[in-house]
Amino acid sequence: MLLAPFAKVSLSHAPTPLEPLDRLRRVLGGPRLWIKRDDCTGLAQGGNKARKLEFLVADALAKGCDTLITPGAVQSNHVRMTAAAAARFGLKAHAVLERRVTATDPDYEENGNVLLDELFGCPRSYVPSGSDVAAACADVAKGLAAKGAKPYVIPGGGSNPVGALGYVACAIELADQAKALGIGVTRVVHGTGSSGTQAGLVAGFAAMKSAVEVFGISVRHPRKKQEDMVYDLACRTADHLGKSGIVERARVVADDAYVGPGYGQPTPGMIDAVTMLARTEGILLDPVYSGKAMAGLIDHVRKGTFRDDENVVFLHTGGATSLFGYKSLFFREAA
Ligand SMILES: *Cc1c(COP(=O)(O)O)cnc(C)c1O
Repeated sequence: MLLAPFAKVSLSHAPTPLEPLDRLRRVLGGPRLWIKRDDCTGLAQGGNKARKLEFLVADALAKGCDTLITPGAVQSNHVRMTAAAAARFGLKAHAVLERRVTATDPDYEENGNVLLDELFGCPRSYVPSGSDVAAACADVAKGLAAKGAKPYVIPGGGSNPVGALGYVACAIELADQAKALGIGVTRVVHGTGSSGTQAGLVAGFAAMKSAVEVFGISVRHPRKKQEDMVYDLACRTADHLGKSGIVERARVVADDAYVGPGYGQPTPGMIDAVTMLARTEGILLDPVYSGKAMAGLIDHVRKGTFRDDENVVFLHTGGATSLFGYKSLFFREAA
């Protein structure tokens, strides 16, 4: 109902499963843990960007555009999925890759997501760390338009009010699943970066008048900056839904304690979390987003942040493709 007015293409295998994490819970104790498998959205190895791209690609097609342009870090999951979405709709794509991460792994440049960008036929331009990537995308768009293309620029992470609708949809889907299972979800925990995922969830739960708390774990920015970004986009997403004023600033939480030295830089907690989920649940996390988010969840469970009778959902946003660009991190034990 809420999303009926908005055009959407089909790119994801939704609803994604909501599964118990009982073996992890046995190790950690604490609240009942669940995992929402948005790593299984189905588009090109899955991940959260599929839901955003359903609305963004529909918008691009409605505007008669034929080329998707988007920025990201070199190992961007969003770029990989945008390239795949373009292929699926017979569109062209072009990526602006920011050298945001000082990579130490020889596979960082051409394995993982970059290998798949190449397979999807997505040309890439590279810009230095800290560049104005929006300006760089606008330049690429101008150049391609001069050659007759009709470019559609998607912001980093697909995070604008159109893309965030994908996570309004996820909030609705999760509420339906919790109801069918007869459980009262108290919190959703996930990694927050360009902010569209959290903004969509916050706006979606607010629109449903749901009390579910969205607990973001920042993977890049300090708390205040991340929360301000999420709040701003959640408000604009609510406006886009025709429900201005429903988002409360106090409900936007982004813990920055698990970023470590910076975006895409490893932390011991991330390595432990990725290893623990692999070995207790057979689930693959990633070094940049879901691994740090899970490090945060594990730490908060151990610190007793959650009551034992809570149902806490970890939203798995995907990203394991980038493991192949960070392989040396996980051979350290053997070394
Ligand atoms: C992009 C991404 C995120 C962060 O989502 P935002 O909407 O950018 O905040 C989390 N996890 C993975 C694997 C991602 O690729």
